[in-house]
Amino acid sequence: MTRAPALFVSHGSPMFALEPGLLGPRLRELGAALPDVAAVLVVSAHWQSRGVRVAATTSPETIHDFGGFPDELYRLRYPAPGAPELAAEAARLLEAAGFAVTLDAQRGLDHGAWVPLRHLFAAASVPVFQVSLPHDLDGAAALRLGAALAPLRDRGVLIVGSGSLTHNLHEVFGGRVDDPQYAQAFADWANDAVHARAIDALVDYRRRAPDAARAHPTEEHFLPLLVALGASADDEAGERIEGGMTYGILSMDSFGWGLRPGLAERLRRAA
Ligand code: ZN
Repeated sequence: MTRAPALFVSHGSPMFALEPGLLGPRLRELGAALPDVAAVLVVSAHWQSRGVRVAATTSPETIHDFGGFPDELYRLRYPAPGAPELAAEAARLLEAAGFAVTLDAQRGLDHGAWVPLRHLFAAASVPVFQVSLPHDLDGAAALRLGAALAPLRDRGVLIVGSGSLTHNLHEVFGGRVDDPQYAQAFADWANDAVHARAIDALVDYRRRAPDAARAHPTEEHFLPLLVALGASADDEAGERIEGGMTYGILSMDSFGWGLRPGLAERLRRAA
């Protein structure tokens, strides 16, 4: 079994399902380059809970956990099977790392999971299961959560943190933003920090990154990046999968750790 990579994927808004932009084709190319993924474990911004919950659902339903979007989006389904045995293994690993864990046999896939997966594995044939973000998770704990799950990568489990590199939806829906360049400045800072594997700086991003509280009024779309980083090994350089900027201020930049040599370069040429 080949060790699967760890990814942070920016999903921006639910519209990413219908508007692939720069990132969609790159995820598609990435998925095609990962033929032996046993399952995908997604830690999404859109499943927060008390303690850690692990979805052990056999056939997770597609959850349309958003309002006010085009009808077409509500008709989309992502009928991937679950992975209850790997979910139980994930729960054991998290418990061993000191997390309070509950298995959830009912939970479906939220849009933080299925929207990027529609691009990554369009056929929906690779099993998928989710691990929640505890409400009280901070940056350091997000890193520990990812580290606890890291051994699953050796069993072919692709670990995906799904959030958004910048995520101020108030500004997206509130209209004109006079100084949208702040979002790019934050994304550039994060890109540099990931590239340099500046883990302490990333954990402490709210104090160290430019306009952090504006780029992330709440933390749940940034924490999945720390989960993916935590699931990476010290000798794995984070490689950027450039996704561009949607709605002027939502950075779709994503990252991969443990990608095959040359793959990130190939993705840059895709689309
Ligand atoms: Zn989201």
